Amino acid sequence: MKTRLLRHSIWIALTAAAPLFALDAPRKLVDYDIRVTLDPATKTLTGAQTLKWTNPAPEPVSELRFHLYWNAFRNNRSTFFKESGGQLRDDQADTEGGWGRIDLTKVQIGGADVLARGRFDSPDDGNPDDRTVWVLPLETPVGPGETVTLTMDWISKVPKVYARAGYVRDYFFIGQWFPKIGVYEPAGMRRRKTSGWNCHQYHANSEFYANFGDYHVSITVPEKFVVASAGTWTGETKQGDKKTLRYELANVHDFAWAADPRFVVSESVWDPARDLPAAEIERAARTLGRSKEDLLRGMRPVKISVYGQPDHKPQLHRYHDAQKWSLTWLGLWAFPYPYEHISIVDPPEDGIGSGGMEYQTLYTGGTSRFFNSGPLVGMKFLEVVTVHEYGHGYWYGMVASNEFEESWMDEGINTFTEWEIVDRRWKYDLEFPLGLGFSTRGVMVPSVAKKQEPDPIVQSSWGYVSGGSYGNNSYFRSGAVIEQMRRLMGEERFFRGLRAYAERWRYDHPTSEDFFDAILSQAEEPAIIRGLIDQTFYGRGFFDVRVSSASTTRAEDFVGFDDTRKAVGFDETAGKKKSRDPDDKGRRFVSAVRVIRDGEIGVPTDVLLTFENGQTLTRPLAAGNRWLRLVVESSSKLARVEVDPAHKLLLDRNPMNNLKRLEADRSPSAARKVSTYLKHGLDIVLSSLWSAF
Ligand SMILES: [Zn+2]
Repeated sequence: MKTRLLRHSIWIALTAAAPLFALDAPRKLVDYDIRVTLDPATKTLTGAQTLKWTNPAPEPVSELRFHLYWNAFRNNRSTFFKESGGQLRDDQADTEGGWGRIDLTKVQIGGADVLARGRFDSPDDGNPDDRTVWVLPLETPVGPGETVTLTMDWISKVPKVYARAGYVRDYFFIGQWFPKIGVYEPAGMRRRKTSGWNCHQYHANSEFYANFGDYHVSITVPEKFVVASAGTWTGETKQGDKKTLRYELANVHDFAWAADPRFVVSESVWDPARDLPAAEIERAARTLGRSKEDLLRGMRPVKISVYGQPDHKPQLHRYHDAQKWSLTWLGLWAFPYPYEHISIVDPPEDGIGSGGMEYQTLYTGGTSRFFNSGPLVGMKFLEVVTVHEYGHGYWYGMVASNEFEESWMDEGINTFTEWEIVDRRWKYDLEFPLGLGFSTRGVMVPSVAKKQEPDPIVQSSWGYVSGGSYGNNSYFRSGAVIEQMRRLMGEERFFRGLRAYAERWRYDHPTSEDFFDAILSQAEEPAIIRGLIDQTFYGRGFFDVRVSSASTTRAEDFVGFDDTRKAVGFDETAGKKKSRDPDDKGRRFVSAVRVIRDGEIGVPTDVLLTFENGQTLTRPLAAGNRWLRLVVESSSKLARVEVDPAHKLLLDRNPMNNLKRLEADRSPSAARKVSTYLKHGLDIVLSSLWSAF
């Protein structure tokens, strides 16, 4: 049975795949009414849902496609398991008894049972054993703009937590848990040529993509459990030793929840009238070229709930603090957070596989009791993971890119904003006594510059050569290239571009090129930024600017015949050069400098010559030139040559060859060497930690 909608008006609204203006609210294509019961003893979820799905395309759709994500944990033949080897994000699957699954037990359309009609499909790899995509052919196709209503029952076995969702002891994190319809993309949406389903299998490195809509969720658990859920709590009823909690959440594309009898709940409110620092409003308004009133429009108080582990009590206030600063920064620089509530789940340490994971209006953090006090209290992993996961609420939550196909759009943009938010507030992520410390940005950007990556950044999440390449490209390399764009474009132009992207694509589904368009629209020299994009997002290019040679010698005095046939500088009769006065005050020097840019990426830079008398000379090396040769005559010797003196070229593969000194013995000092080695060591440690977030 299908519900006919007001065909024309809605159909036209829905098929405008790329509106010219930003959306005030998402186009709702799904509506989920879910009732679920958790049995902690058997680790079972029993669920029933009424799903309404609207066809957004101008043609009828004759089959529906669903994600059954937990079948990734069904057995060791699933694509997820084969790709991950049972290991993901530094956590290991429990292959003894930790398997999970989801089985549909009833599917009806208009009262007719249609379950038997369904089949599994593996559109990405053809794996005949994968059970994560379920296809339901329809007897009657869903017409353009029409809505079909399905009732679906299912039973799930909760997996032992290792990849985002699952249980450990009495802690349950329930994400990707219900039969979820894929995205039917009309031609033109995300620049695709023909309409079709976008419903990928669950891969080791893939995350998610779905249509916006409304969720109404009832959760039944034993009385003693504390439930942390996305959405707004609207009521609770009791039946014996069980309770049912109801939640509503509009304008989202996912819903997750957690339950644990041990949760310690703490609440606070972020109030824009109180918590927005005047200096930050000022700075954002100036940089973005917007009035303060404009930036503050739509800001609302947000209730923050932290569901903490008892052994992390001394740190729980830090979640609130980091969350408030993130609400401030993203609210001012991207757009105001539109939901009234945000929940943070602090997983137990033996359930850290569910940590550092984002959902809409709820996410998981993660910390260790070793950071409660003592020498490690300056390690800001908790703050970093809070800023990062909340940031996803923007770059996957509201600006809803496709994490299956363009993982960088979520992780990379989010890495960039995470670095900025953390640095602006704390300067160092890892803080040691005596004011020493490191920031992830400070360590990761040079590390990215050095490494030759095997893959271009833009790639389906399962298309990278390895999990390491997925991680480095999706997170750090994209974050570093975006940081490089910022340095090349300048603060105002760059942040206006980022803002344009955020506002235009809020509640919509952008592609990589939509991000690039927004940034390029603000660039003074778009060709340079475009070149950087092509060589990194679509290529494996690099650059290395270096001082190839530099010399300074005394200028030869004129010797020979001048235009009047007079012998100058030599004795014509004796056939000998005249000896020169060594203290000649008017002596001149010739300095010759060669600067070379290796690699495919054309970036503009400056070359700074400093002479012994303190005079300086700056010459540009244009983006289109691979080298610069300079010969300068002056009254002083050349002392040093430096390319990129303003340190704008963050992705310079080897910054150690950017400076040449001509004075005697100016080898790097011992202190400089030590700091270089320290940074390198930390680089290795932090590089291996990326997956923890
Ligand atoms: Zn992330």
